Amino acid sequence: MGQESSSAAPTGRQAPASGPVRFKDRASRQMSGPAVVPPYPSRVDLHTHSRRSDGVLEPSDLVAAAAAAGVRVLGLADHDTLAGVRELYAPGMPDLPLDLVPAVEINSVAPGIESLWEGELHVVGLGVDPSDDAFEAALELQRRSRSIRFGMIVARLRELGLPIDAGVGSLALAPGSSLGRPQIARLLVQAGHALSVDAAMEGLLARGQPAYVRRQGLGPRDAIAAIRAAGGLPVLAHFADAPTRRDLIADLIAAGLGGLEVHYRHFDAATVTEMAALAAVLRLVPTGGSDYHGDGESYAAAHAALFVPDEDAVALFAALGRAAPTPSTARAAAR
Ligand SMILES: [Zn+2]
Ligand SMILES: [Zn+2]
Repeated sequence: MGQESSSAAPTGRQAPASGPVRFKDRASRQMSGPAVVPPYPSRVDLHTHSRRSDGVLEPSDLVAAAAAAGVRVLGLADHDTLAGVRELYAPGMPDLPLDLVPAVEINSVAPGIESLWEGELHVVGLGVDPSDDAFEAALELQRRSRSIRFGMIVARLRELGLPIDAGVGSLALAPGSSLGRPQIARLLVQAGHALSVDAAMEGLLARGQPAYVRRQGLGPRDAIAAIRAAGGLPVLAHFADAPTRRDLIADLIAAGLGGLEVHYRHFDAATVTEMAALAAVLRLVPTGGSDYHGDGESYAAAHAALFVPDEDAVALFAALGRAAPTPSTARAAAR
């Protein structure tokens, strides 16, 4: 706690007694105000994770679950890898039941920017080219940093008498997968060292805690530039402080930021309204998604709490210069 901006909430709504609730981490993502009530089941989800990073579902199972829930445009945004996207597009794979948006999420490190959760800004690159060699090289470096960090945390846990080495040995990751703390948290639960993934993320593994190791990797401007160079739209993810940090957002726009995650599953209704207004004023493409990872919930359960309007997908496709959405998407957008 205490890492967030202390600036006042910009709206007239009553702030909770503990101060403005902002996205911080897995356990405190829940916003305090009334939740968004989806006017229709979302046909768009532009932010999900598979087992190629720190999600739990295989990419094909995630696609199937999303399609079954009614999603027609899906962004697979694994951390620092397009491995899942490339697998889904591989020759011999069945036709996808939805429109897949190739994406990545880069947790950029921003030590020079004050009052950020864990010192990070998360940038989702939507519509990046999965065959761009320079981008893949940049992601490979990111994954190497993740792997080193992962090893350092595992070693730290061993020193603390909380070994998870047996679990690490049985991870059986597909090529191009990236490692992160949620995988460590799951291994801690498996080994009986933590009660839940959230408890491990909030406790032992959180910044300032005994098993925390600082992240290394791209800064926000470099992440944005890399995504642009790969033909993608850089989107600032789940940053509910955006309305109170206009100077920072202006800097990021100058660096090439093109979108703002407005319809984020864990934002309350008032936050979504604020973020939508900000995106409109700044001419940022509004996007949204579930940020589904799969710990303790099915995709269907996550989807039930999600609302991303069809218009977000239409605006995204326009920004990417992509041809008209597929017939299924066009049908959705026409409703
Ligand atoms: Zn994120
Ligand atoms: Zn995410």
